[in-house]
Amino acid sequence: MECKRDKNLKNCNCSYDPCPKKGICCECLHYHRKMRQLPACFFPPEYEKTYDRSFELFAKLVSEGKV
Ligand code: SF4
Repeated sequence: MECKRDKNLKNCNCSYDPCPKKGICCECLHYHRKMRQLPACFFPPEYEKTYDRSFELFAKLVSEGKV
């Protein structure tokens, strides 16, 4: 199966521009999962830009109804 990087980039909100994984969602997900984190696209823009991608922040945002 061919990588759909160009298509994926249209849905990528990650503001960390130097990352080589942008648009390669499988690598992005595995990278963050290993660190108990989620990819940028799980977070609203104001939280995404803090680069705190922790499960804990995501759970807090869910409990506050922000995602
Ligand atoms: S969420 Fe992380 S791995 Fe994914 S593109 Fe952004 S910085 Fe890279």
